[in-house]
Amino acid sequence: MTSTESYLPSDMGPEEFRQWGRTVVNWIATYLEHPEHFPVLARVKPGDVADAVGRTWSGERASFAEIMADFDRTVVPGLTHWNHPSFFGYFGISASGPGVLGDLLSSALNQQAMLWRTSPAATELEAVTLGWLRDLLGLPATFEGVIYDTASISTLHALAAARERSLPEVRRTGLAGRQPVRVYCSEHAHSSVEKAMMLLGLGQNSLTKVECDAEFRMRPGKLLTAVERDRRAGILPMAVVATVGTTATTSVDPVPAIAAICREASIWLHVDAAYAGVAAMVPGWEWTLEGCDAADSFVVNPHKWLFTPFDLSAFYCRHMDVLRSAFSLVPDYLETQDPPETRNLMDTGIQLGRRFRALKLWMILRYFGRDGLAALLSEHMRLARLFGSWIDGHPGFERVAPTPFSVVCFRALSQKKDAITDERLNMALLEQLNNSGLVFLSHARINDHFCLRLAIGNIRTQTIHVEAVWRHVQETTDRLRHY
Ligand SMILES: *Cc1c(COP(=O)(O)O)cnc(C)c1O
Repeated sequence: MTSTESYLPSDMGPEEFRQWGRTVVNWIATYLEHPEHFPVLARVKPGDVADAVGRTWSGERASFAEIMADFDRTVVPGLTHWNHPSFFGYFGISASGPGVLGDLLSSALNQQAMLWRTSPAATELEAVTLGWLRDLLGLPATFEGVIYDTASISTLHALAAARERSLPEVRRTGLAGRQPVRVYCSEHAHSSVEKAMMLLGLGQNSLTKVECDAEFRMRPGKLLTAVERDRRAGILPMAVVATVGTTATTSVDPVPAIAAICREASIWLHVDAAYAGVAAMVPGWEWTLEGCDAADSFVVNPHKWLFTPFDLSAFYCRHMDVLRSAFSLVPDYLETQDPPETRNLMDTGIQLGRRFRALKLWMILRYFGRDGLAALLSEHMRLARLFGSWIDGHPGFERVAPTPFSVVCFRALSQKKDAITDERLNMALLEQLNNSGLVFLSHARINDHFCLRLAIGNIRTQTIHVEAVWRHVQETTDRLRHY
């Protein structure tokens, strides 16, 4: 046995790196060529992966050949394949080729862009690339962008900026003893809004979930009533979060009307367009972001429906100075002699270090081009409309929400047509579809019905996959006919 003193490893040498680099890139190419060779949903039980890997470790070294063999044997069976063309759950996403290569380069470069000088390239490419994306979506140049990991963190920063504008002293004094504040979102908004309330110390009770109309959109009249009632009660309306593409049904809140209320009452408007925002680049879908030019902040996730490997969330703000004053705190060892207008990304958020995420987005935008990206999104929406038309044309199924983008919410109808039987039928349908390994769908509860959700967003999903899932849905429902 070698003692610690005598054994000093060097990093993987360049020849070995080249050899394994080729092997790994080949592995990835084969995988991305045929992700459908795997069951969509991992066929493991909780604890299986940990058992296979081994919960204790001897501390011994292994060759990279052994590590790769163990990767295939122990890790791969525990993967759920988000790259599978029949992954229709939650939101379809894709690790596109240029995105994977961009991520690989950014790992190798290991840029840590806290200050401009610690990575001028990462700092400036982030600003430029987010500017390009903003222009693609038709948002005004007054929006400055910053990349966070997820939409949840983007929304947390938006609400922190809103708090900074309403109550600038809170950054120093904390919230205790202050006038109570209120934030508003629709009853279909994402749970990250409520989590941000928890984390910012504003409290879940300070979030009002405004009622929606029959198509799951916030009712501006109800928002106005809530704001006026709170004002009379001495509560300070601080922010409204409008959603463009809600998580269950992809409904779009009426942003122009909400923006008018916010402008009138000086309330910060944050728009959560995590999934659907990208649709605005498709000719004919410009309406998606109507009114969003009046928002104070805005989030869209390229890692959702823009073929970007997880993670990359694009956050835009029209008052970066407010965001900076919410977060800027410069310890002396990070002070620089750079000109004062130099942008240091550590000032726009809670984290100090950050990955060079902009690189993969820059490569994706350039590789597919504006028309290519728009064509892919448009095709996904066509496929969703096609599936929706099959549901509408079949007496045994019903669509439970409009399909403005690439998500179809539907359910099977039982022969008995009573609520409990319907519920059991749809739960069994989802379970059997997902256990088949051929497709993966998720569910939502809409108008008290358990519904299935078919979300199209993977770059490899084609008409044949959508035809196949429709066939599976019908055949499985037929087998469950006794309901
Ligand atoms: C997916 C989604 C989120 C959460 O996104 P993360 O990046 O996973 O935090 C937030 N809001 C909406 C509307 C979403 O669809």
